Amino acid sequence: MRILIIGAHPDDPDWYAGGTAAKFVQKGHKVRMLAMTNGNAGHYKEGGGPLAVRRYQETQCSARVIGAEYLVLDNDDGKLLPTLENREKVIRQIREFNADLVITHRPNDYHPDHRNTGLLVRDAAYMVTVPNIVPLVPHLRKNPVFAYLGDEFTKPNPIEPDVVVVIDDVLEKKLGMFHCHVSQMYEWLPYNMNILDQVPDGEAARKQWLAGLHAQMAGPLADKYRERIAELYGRERAQKVKYIEVFEISEYGTQPSPEDLRLWFPF
Ligand SMILES: [Zn+2]
Repeated sequence: MRILIIGAHPDDPDWYAGGTAAKFVQKGHKVRMLAMTNGNAGHYKEGGGPLAVRRYQETQCSARVIGAEYLVLDNDDGKLLPTLENREKVIRQIREFNADLVITHRPNDYHPDHRNTGLLVRDAAYMVTVPNIVPLVPHLRKNPVFAYLGDEFTKPNPIEPDVVVVIDDVLEKKLGMFHCHVSQMYEWLPYNMNILDQVPDGEAARKQWLAGLHAQMAGPLADKYRERIAELYGRERAQKVKYIEVFEISEYGTQPSPEDLRLWFPF
C-alpha cells in the first residue's frame, strides 16, 4: 500500500502518526509524509528562509529514522489558505503518489494551518478522480481511503476512533523522529509552553527529557480510549497498552468495512 500522511507543518505527520508510519514501513508498505507549509514561522528567534531550510533538514532526518519519504511544500507557515491553487497542489500530490490511503487533520482544529490542510484534503478527496480537474496529471481510477489524524477537539464533535494503533513497540522510533526536530522539540515548543528553561543540555539528557514530555502529553490518550482499545484488541491486552494513535475514516473517498479496516491497518 501507498500511504500519504499530510500535515500542515514539518513535524505534524510525525506527531500524530509517526508510530503508525513506522509500523506501515515495517510491514513493507510505502509511506510518504507531506507538510503543506515549510514551517518558516515555527520559532521565537529564527524565521523565514533559513528556518524553512533547517526544518526541511529535520524532516529528512525524521524520514530516515523509519525509512519513509518526507516532502515539504513551500507555502508560508501560519498563512495557509484553502485556495483553489492549494487544492490543486493537493490533488497533484495525491495523484502523483498514487495513494491508497491519505491521512490528514480534521477541518476543526486549534491551528488555522491544520484546519485549512484538513479542508484542502477533504476538498481534493473526490476531485482526484475527476479527469478534467488538473487534467495534465492522470486522475485516479480508484478513490483512496481518507482518514483523519487524532485530535482532542470536541466542537462540533470529537473524533470517532475507527482505528486505534498501539505504538508501544515502535515508541523508540517515534521518539527518534521527534528528536530530529530540534528546532521544535527543544526550542520552539518549550518556548511556547513556557518551559524552555527545563530543556537540558546534551544529547542523552535531551532525549530523556523529550521522552518524559511525550509521556506527559500522549499518555492520557490510551486511558481516554481504553474501552475502544479493549473492543479492538481484547480486554487483557488493552490494560497493558501505554501509547496509541487514533484515526477516523472520512466519509469522503472509499469506505472500508470494519473487516477491510483490519487489512488497511494490518497491526
Ligand atoms: Zn502543526
